Amino acid sequence: MSWSNPWFIAALVSVIGVFHLEFIATLLNLGRLGRAIPEALAEVFSEETRAKLADYIRESTRISFTQDIAALGLVVVFWWSGGFGWLQSWAENQGHGPVVTGVFVIAIIMLAQTWLSLPFEAWDTFGVEARYGFNKTTPATFIQDHIKGLTLMAILGLPVAAVLVWFFETQALAALYAWVFIAGFSILMTWLSPRVIMPLFLKFQPLEEGALREAIFALARKLDFPVQEVSIVDGSRRSTKANAFFAGFGKTRRIALYDTLIQSHSQEEIVAILAHEIGHNKCRHVPVMMALHLAEMGIMLALLGWVLKSPDFFAAFGVRGTPVGMGLILFGLVYKPFGVLTGLLGLAMSRKHEFEADAFAAKAVGSHEPLTEGLKRLSRDHLAHPQPHPLTVWLHYSHPPLIERLAALTKISL
Ligand SMILES: [Zn+2]
Repeated sequence: MSWSNPWFIAALVSVIGVFHLEFIATLLNLGRLGRAIPEALAEVFSEETRAKLADYIRESTRISFTQDIAALGLVVVFWWSGGFGWLQSWAENQGHGPVVTGVFVIAIIMLAQTWLSLPFEAWDTFGVEARYGFNKTTPATFIQDHIKGLTLMAILGLPVAAVLVWFFETQALAALYAWVFIAGFSILMTWLSPRVIMPLFLKFQPLEEGALREAIFALARKLDFPVQEVSIVDGSRRSTKANAFFAGFGKTRRIALYDTLIQSHSQEEIVAILAHEIGHNKCRHVPVMMALHLAEMGIMLALLGWVLKSPDFFAAFGVRGTPVGMGLILFGLVYKPFGVLTGLLGLAMSRKHEFEADAFAAKAVGSHEPLTEGLKRLSRDHLAHPQPHPLTVWLHYSHPPLIERLAALTKISL
């Protein structure tokens, strides 16, 4: 570890720089809570709702900020006290080959990360979310979810880590192989997720016969969007927050609605929200995002391949040699600023897609009224920030702020 090693400086600037960027965005965003509300939003957020959402956002922010400081502190202390070097030698002393040792190191660090964030998650769920009436999760469900998550990580994550470590330990074209492998794995997960993974956490039940089901099928027929099944999922077992999503591809596609969405929205609003989701599909947003994601992955893996060959990079973290498993973890620390940059691009694209899907939905149902009402209700019920700061929007918002969506909706010619 030395100040003359450029990797040491780069990692330090990366970790501390991104932390400060987030800190500034958080402060600016909180500052905006006190702003006078524009007329377009005055009827959405009553004075009472505004007071409540300001408190809610402040408390949620306090948790994530405390977590960020704790994480930064732990990383720097572990790093500067030689923790990475010590962990690597300890893993090597277990006497396994480089692949098993690498996976072992990755697993230990991931497990530590998960457990260290667990108290914050519990504080958020049972402290803040519960106080504002969102949380429905019991401690038993919370623990079960955690165990299921860890088991999935072990079953899916460890083999993936093993393949990646093996590529970078043995193959000259490792970055290319890893890229093809990750692309294949992402497609497999899109297929597997609604069939195997989501049912572990949510219960799917067919939507019963009735006006809503007929309206949904009528919409799907009108838009020439084949749907095999409409399901209800028991989101209410965990949170009162509402949602809707699609699962699967092509002819086996099913629509899933959270029971909480059905409880809190009118039939017209639900149909408009689904028309928005169908809009994403019709406008080819999924393949575009997938391509963007793969392009980012390609750049990241090329950088990774280059970094893993540099003993200086490892020396910056007090690690001897060029062990790949440890390298994958350490790379995450220097990659942060690039992650922010590619994130900006992906989020900007996603927000553009939201406007397009909104326009599609308004045209599909022949009015912007139901979607407008649906969006207002979602924002109000979720206690969303009425006027988020642009920096926060750039860094984190996959959806445009409500006021922009409402304004864009009124401008659509039907
Ligand atoms: Zn959308």
